[in-house]
Amino acid sequence: MYGVSVVLPTPAHSRLPEVLSYRHSAALPLGTLVRVPLGARELLGVVWAAEAGTSEPEPASLKPITAVLDLPPLGHAWVDLIGFAAGYYQRFAGELAMAALPPQLRDLDEAQFGRLLKKREKKSKITSLQAIAGKASQLPHPISHSQSGLQVSSEQDAVLMQLGGVDPRPKLLFGATGSGKTEVYLRRIEQVLAADEKAQALVMVPEINLTPQMEARFQGRIEARFGVGTVVLMHSGMTPAQRTASWLAAHVGQARLVLGTRLAVLASMPHLRLIVVDEEHDPSYKSQDGSRYSARDLAVYRGGSRGAEERIQVILGSATPSIETWHNANPVGSKPSRYQRLDMPSRINAAAMPKVRVVDMRLQQKSELMAGGLAPALMAAITERAERGEQSLLFLNRRGYAPVLHCGSCEWKSACPHCSANQVFHKKDRRLRCHHCSLTTAVPRQCPLCGNLDIGMQGRGTEQLEEMLVAQLGTKFRVLRLDADSTSAKGSLEAQMASVHAGEVDVLVGTQMVTKGHDFRRITLVAAVNPDSALFAADFRAPERLFSLLMQAAGRAGRDASMSSAAEMWLQTQHPQHPLYKALAAHDYPAFAASQLTEREGAAMPPFSYQALVRAEGRTQGLAQAFLDSAAAVVGTESEFELFRDPNSKNYVTLYPAVPMAMQRIANVERAQMLVEAPSRMALQRMLATWQPYLRSLKAQGVLRWALDVDPLTI
Ligand code: ADP
Ligand code: ZN
Ligand code: ZN
Repeated sequence: MYGVSVVLPTPAHSRLPEVLSYRHSAALPLGTLVRVPLGARELLGVVWAAEAGTSEPEPASLKPITAVLDLPPLGHAWVDLIGFAAGYYQRFAGELAMAALPPQLRDLDEAQFGRLLKKREKKSKITSLQAIAGKASQLPHPISHSQSGLQVSSEQDAVLMQLGGVDPRPKLLFGATGSGKTEVYLRRIEQVLAADEKAQALVMVPEINLTPQMEARFQGRIEARFGVGTVVLMHSGMTPAQRTASWLAAHVGQARLVLGTRLAVLASMPHLRLIVVDEEHDPSYKSQDGSRYSARDLAVYRGGSRGAEERIQVILGSATPSIETWHNANPVGSKPSRYQRLDMPSRINAAAMPKVRVVDMRLQQKSELMAGGLAPALMAAITERAERGEQSLLFLNRRGYAPVLHCGSCEWKSACPHCSANQVFHKKDRRLRCHHCSLTTAVPRQCPLCGNLDIGMQGRGTEQLEEMLVAQLGTKFRVLRLDADSTSAKGSLEAQMASVHAGEVDVLVGTQMVTKGHDFRRITLVAAVNPDSALFAADFRAPERLFSLLMQAAGRAGRDASMSSAAEMWLQTQHPQHPLYKALAAHDYPAFAASQLTEREGAAMPPFSYQALVRAEGRTQGLAQAFLDSAAAVVGTESEFELFRDPNSKNYVTLYPAVPMAMQRIANVERAQMLVEAPSRMALQRMLATWQPYLRSLKAQGVLRWALDVDPLTI
């Protein structure tokens, strides 16, 4: 009889220990998947670090393992990754392990799982036979062959040389939009996979659904060369069965390339040799709920955690890197940088970057503005493009028709009764809708407070902009709106994207969803209709996000060299002199980043300090804050925290007072947060680890949920 330690999906809040002990008739290797009883339930678990003395407590007194899954164990490297992530993000290992496994594995019983494996085996035999019969080249991926014959540009060539070199540091591929970063990824993947017949690669993208062309491009190239079934997808939009199939293919090594979103960073890939994080600055790499890990940062960890012979190369790619990454990729003083920076400043075929045109909205007569808030000159430019057969892309970060209705004679506004937000007017179905809690009501005929019949609108959303564009251009041209409302039906986003690519759309309007990643050939004009609000937001990362959003949006224009000389990016702003817009007009990311870094260094903000947030949600703001206050009191009084309280120590940790969150109330739940800041990562980590057990045992009266967020992206 052997004692076995197992981690289970027990959240860090529960009173259960992180690792539980069971018994089994044989020793089980680290990373074996097992089913074990817990109370009345049976749960999936992973055999964890066999700590000293697996035979105690008396194995006989332990409950037996119910079943051992018929799969290769998950391997040391994977267990190490999950262990690191759990420690760093202050979670239980079991919680992260389960986030990394396909949900089906948890739900299927032994017999069902056995059937699934059989079916898979049969199918993979057929695919490999097809591959032998040379079916690979008959795949419907027309672009693949034309593209693999490309002549690499000299910049691409230089970068590929560096990637093939011996420098073990993570790479930042700092390449302009349209500089051919994706082509570099593809070639590097091909090299790595060709050099070792077992090697695997992982490519992460922010949102796979938005870029079906990306999928076609990777699948086309890699499967044509390495065989059908060697590329799998991994993202949360797949069915449970698809997710299991992808996960298994990666785990047993059949998949040579995994293309996925942030959750793919936790995939089991025993022969992983290369990780690409495309658009590494994208906030979607940080999960906002559950285990709150940063997939980009874990990718870098995964790369650095192995010995030389199994080293994993990590490539972070972006035209507008996150300030943290930029800081890491540039030397400070005489110290070499942590990341190696590789530049590709030019667009393919010397296509020009779009000219930035700033419309000073202070000079616009209100009466002359088009509905939707468009300056007449911009409207004229769009019309002209459409007549020339070119596409325009407009973005406005507000969906619906008008963000709020209001009464002119009293104080009434269409505020959501459950949230600290307004209900948005949607004209299509004549509804008021709260974008936070989804409360939907009819539009009142008269002011609910004073009976006034004249209810007005404030602000403009994408629906209004679309309506105006259709009225102006609709008889001759096609206008398409792309936002969460127009794409809510399953498959509709894909269908709409396809029509844009087929050239059926002349003017595309939408929320920031339209700015990401697409490679539209005929877009020559991009316009940000109302970008100013982010300039003065309280969040210190708001400028960084705005800059990259605008730069990415600009990057959609003029990707075809033959049309690039006329490409323009229009900005409608009340602050034409703002340094952020100046840097944008010069396409000067380094200048923008330098100014951000100076500001942050002066204010001791990340990357010059390290942060975590404790968030609490309660029935009242007072209760939520009371929980945070008692958490702070622990740090103020318990002797274990002495080290962190000494202002002269390099471990000094600052606790800020508990405050309401920017979105204070959602669906009648009050939200509060407390910021924790330290001069070093190590100090913060040690303090959080000391704090965690106290937090777990605090009486959380009236608190529905609380969570720790390490390296939060929004404050
Ligand atoms: P990025 O990812 O940097 O925005 P892409 O890799 O999507 O850029 O490349 C932009 C366009 O240029 C794509 O249509 C791609 O097929 C094309 N391209 C990339 N490399 C080359 C090359 N060496 N020669 C010609 N076209 C290229
Ligand atoms: Zn009124
Ligand atoms: Zn609401």
